[in-house]
Parts: sequence; structure tokens; C-alpha cells
Amino acid sequence: MKSQVRFAERFVTLREAGDEYRLLSAFESLRLRTENGGNDLLSRVLPLLRDGVAEERLRSVVGPQDVANVDLLLSELLGRGLVERVEAGDALVSVDRRLASQVRFLANFPPFADVPPLPDQFPRPSGSETQARIARAQVALIGSGDLLGRVEAQLTRAGLVAMTTVDIDDQDSDARLRAAIRGSELVVVCPDHQRVSLLRDLNRMCLEAGRTWTSARTIGSRVEVGPTIVPGDTACFGCYELRRQSNDAGYRDGAERAELLAVDGLDTGRLAIEVADGLLAAEVLKLVGGFSRPMTYGALFSLDLVTLESGLHPVLKIPRCASCGAPARNRPTTSVWPFTP
Ligand SMILES: [Zn+2]
Repeated sequence: MKSQVRFAERFVTLREAGDEYRLLSAFESLRLRTENGGNDLLSRVLPLLRDGVAEERLRSVVGPQDVANVDLLLSELLGRGLVERVEAGDALVSVDRRLASQVRFLANFPPFADVPPLPDQFPRPSGSETQARIARAQVALIGSGDLLGRVEAQLTRAGLVAMTTVDIDDQDSDARLRAAIRGSELVVVCPDHQRVSLLRDLNRMCLEAGRTWTSARTIGSRVEVGPTIVPGDTACFGCYELRRQSNDAGYRDGAERAELLAVDGLDTGRLAIEVADGLLAAEVLKLVGGFSRPMTYGALFSLDLVTLESGLHPVLKIPRCASCGAPARNRPTTSVWPFTP
């Protein structure tokens, strides 16, 4: 396989004037010009670097009089990490053209890891590889009504193709829900109304199955995303409810009344717009793509649509939590027999 040189995936080029160009990414803006300009060197070279080109071909295109200049330009661009050497064959994982902008954005982030890599191990960010990971992600999408449909549409648009969607209002949804959880790496819960019993059930099932899960809902003027719960790692939904209840003595009663109203398709009133879908979808992309830390990891994000006040509230584990704390560990295990739906 032949080696090619190509602009780093995160960049687009913009011609500014004559032989001056701007190299732009979501976070950078760099001016490119040649000292001894006037021979349109950049205009001849940059389009080839955008698509990927063998170095010998680049030299032959500019001709013998500019070989030294092109070598100088290349070593400068390679040294600054603006141009990369790639193998011609494995250049890019093929992605939908509609996702080109997202892939370019993802290329700004090295893969997210708990332990920072050593300087000489710093992994090359690759938007296409992150996008491929997103495409392969096995996600169980569980919810109801408008919010479920919107989250599904957002994630489909972002390139998730391996989703299993379960509408909890459908008949026989219980068995499909359990199968979806078993077959997934991430469970995403987005009921249209506040359904606290669903969140409690999912908490129990995901703790038992060892599945990471996250959720979103809109309650009156408040949009809530998270907390994202990683069994054995973060606080669980039971911990979250204990903390909410200790700050707000009416929390449980309020949540249960909201659920009774939801059974009749009612709520205490809210705007007929949706904000939760995009916020939740962005967290899902971080969780499955691994390009950045999901901010709802062990935390709840809230946004008030009237005041536009927002907050990220850490949710700490509670040792006495009946779902994930010491009492849960003392309980006889429920997974002695293989469960069949
Ligand atoms: Zn807990």
C-alpha cells in the first residue's frame, strides 16, 4: 500500500485572496501562504492535500521548479500536525455524506480514555473511526410518545443504525424491553410523561444486567437529562431519589402523582416544544462514541425553559441505597436461574 499525505480530517480550506488560504476547524483558524508566492503553489497543492495524494504525485504535479518549495511546505504542515501521512487503502471508513460535518467535528477529539495517554502514545483523532463506533453501538431506546420518536430520529440522523426501540405503551412491551436490555451496551429511557415507576424498574433491570443507562424528561418548565448510571461505578436512580427526597420532602409524592396523571395522558402543563431530545442524543453520542466525557455521568443536568437557568448536579452514591448499596448486596441474588422472557 502506498502512503499518502492528506489534511487532518478536522479541517476545511477556504481561499481568501490570491494564493492565501485559511485552514479552519471547529476550534482553530490558521492562515496559509507561501513566502515566495505568486506562482499559485497553494492553489495547485491544497486541493490534492484535501483529498489525499501520494508525495511523488504531488512533486510531479508542481514540476521540478517547485519541488523544493513543496517539500518545505509539506514538512511544515506535517510538523504542525495539519497534514498527516495515511495509508492509501485504509484512508477512511466510508460514511454517509450527510454525516461529513459530524465526522469533521468528531476528528477534533482524541479517543476518550480514563487514563491519559503518554505523550508519545497520543492517539491520532479520527472522526471516521468515532463515527464507525457510533454506527456499531447497540442501543436500547425505551420510552413513549413524541419524545421517543424525536430521540430516535435524532440518533438515526447522527448515524446510529443498531438501535432497538421499545414503546412501553405497546402490548407485550415487557418481554421486548428485557430482550432489548440484554442485547444492548447502553439503555436510553425517554418517556413522554414523567414515569417514575418506569425509571425505578429500569434501574433495577439495568443494575441486574450490568448495563449503563441514561434518561431524559420534561416536567413543567424543567428539562432533565440524566443521571447517567453505570452499575457499580456511579450512584443509581435509587440513590438519586433518596437525595432528591432529602432536599425536597415532596419529591416522591409529586413524582407518583405525576405518574397517575400520565396514565390518563395528563400532566400539570408544559410547552408544546421539545428540548430534551437533542440534549439526550448528544449525551448518547458521547457515551457510545467515546470522544468526550458524558457530562451526565453520575450527574443530572437541568434546564429551566422559563428562566433559562441550567445546572449540572452531581449525584453521589448512598451506601444505604436499597438498590445498589449494602442492603442490595446482602439480598439473595435474583439471577440464579437464567431468565427467559
Ligand atoms: Zn443506589
